This record gives sequence, structure tokens and C-alpha cells, in this order.
Amino acid sequence: MLIDSHCHITSRPYTKDRAQVVRAARQAGVEGCLSVVCVNANLLAAKQARSIVAAMPPGFTVKEALGIHPHDAKDATPPVREYIRQCAEDPTTVAVGEAGLDYHYNHSPKHQQIEVFQWHVALAQKVHKPLIVHTRNAAADTLSVLQQAYRAGVGGVIHCFSEDVPFARRALDLGFYVSFSGILTFPKSHSIQAAARFAPPNRILVETDAPYLAPIPHRGKRNEPAHVRHTARHLARLKHWDFAHLDQVQRNNVRELFGF
Ligand SMILES: [Zn+2]
Ligand SMILES: [Zn+2]
Repeated sequence: MLIDSHCHITSRPYTKDRAQVVRAARQAGVEGCLSVVCVNANLLAAKQARSIVAAMPPGFTVKEALGIHPHDAKDATPPVREYIRQCAEDPTTVAVGEAGLDYHYNHSPKHQQIEVFQWHVALAQKVHKPLIVHTRNAAADTLSVLQQAYRAGVGGVIHCFSEDVPFARRALDLGFYVSFSGILTFPKSHSIQAAARFAPPNRILVETDAPYLAPIPHRGKRNEPAHVRHTARHLARLKHWDFAHLDQVQRNNVRELFGF
């Protein structure tokens, strides 16, 4: 039994068949997921996402995290921040984020992305919860904010890890976990696979980031929590572990970090 440690199960692509997606996950041996909600200017959508989680069928454990994606940093108005702050104090919310820096698209100006990322660090410190970090083409600036997080006693996870061994080493030294998505299964992901071999067992997670980034053999299609097992199997092969060992390691890590 696995946990998908990061997915967007409340998002629009599942509107029509979410119950079926949950059934498929359970049949595939996935017993729960962390539902990550990216809050933007549309607060009503975030509230609806939370009510979807509240109505999940029993037998599938769903915990929550909310944050402002770096793409939406320009929309981090006071009401949006206040809503996330209130949710972060809720016991069903186990983490702050995803938040971070994305210089690939630059949908928001860099200075705003940095300020909003730092705001999430301060919130994580205040509520004593881990931080879920999104980073793309922004390694140096991300590491300097992680350094601030470390000084503030805030840890968390680099989700959808897509950097290299030197970055992983720095992030691990600063108390962060590394979480691998379907990208790990792509043939050209050599530096990510090297980072997975490098990372110590007690700091590794697997996730789907569904609906995005489906692992092989579903690459290019809509992703879903059931598919986390393909990434987990790939990770087990890289680590020369049998699947039962990987399962035990993951179980311990999601419990340690998110309280599953
Ligand atoms: Zn992300
Ligand atoms: Zn995500």
C-alpha cells in the first residue's frame, strides 16, 4: 500500500470521474494521497476544493495542503493570504504549499515570487508545519530561501524533484526531503535518477503531481494517484530494493513528514 504524497485530486480534470479515480487508486494498492490546492485569486474554487476533500469516501486517506503557486504570486492579495493562514491552522491541513519559484514561465515577476515564497516560510514557522517547495529553473534563489527556512526551523519537501545531486545534497543538508514524480521514469532523466540513488532512504518520497507528469507507461496522458506505483517501482529498481522495503520506507517517511 502506497501514499501519493502530492497530487491535485480536486482539480478540474477529475470533475466527471473522481470517484472512479479513487477506486482505481485503491485497486492499485494506493491507500491515500496528499491533496494539494493551489490557491489563486478565485477563493471560491479553493473553498470548493476543500469541500471535495471533506466528501471523500472512507477507506481512502486524504490530507490537505494549501499554498500559492509561484505562477500565481502576483495574485497573493491580503484576502488570499488570510484564507491560507486560517486553513494552515486547521488540523486536516498537514503542510504549507506548494510554494516556491518558477523561472521557467515567469508568470509572476521574480521579486513577487520571492516575497510570496518567504511569506509561506514564515507561515510554516508559525503553524509548525512542513513546507512543500516547487522549484524550476531557480535553483540558486530557491536554495537561499531554503537557507532562511532552515534558520527559522522550517523543513519540508522539494516536490517533483527535477534538479541534480548537488542541489539534492544542499536541500538534504537544510533538512528537506526530496520527492520523485513520474519524471523519474523518463529515459533522459539521468541527473534526477542520480539524485534518487544519492538520497538517503529516510528522506525520499514518491508522488504523482497528478493530473500532470504521468510516469511511463502512461506518459502524455492524464495522470492519477494509481500511477504512483510505476514511479515507486522505478525507484525501487534504482535503489536495488524489493518493493516491500520501498513500501515500508515510504510509509515511515509520509508518517514522519505529514502525519499519515
Ligand atoms: Zn509544483
Ligand atoms: Zn503540484
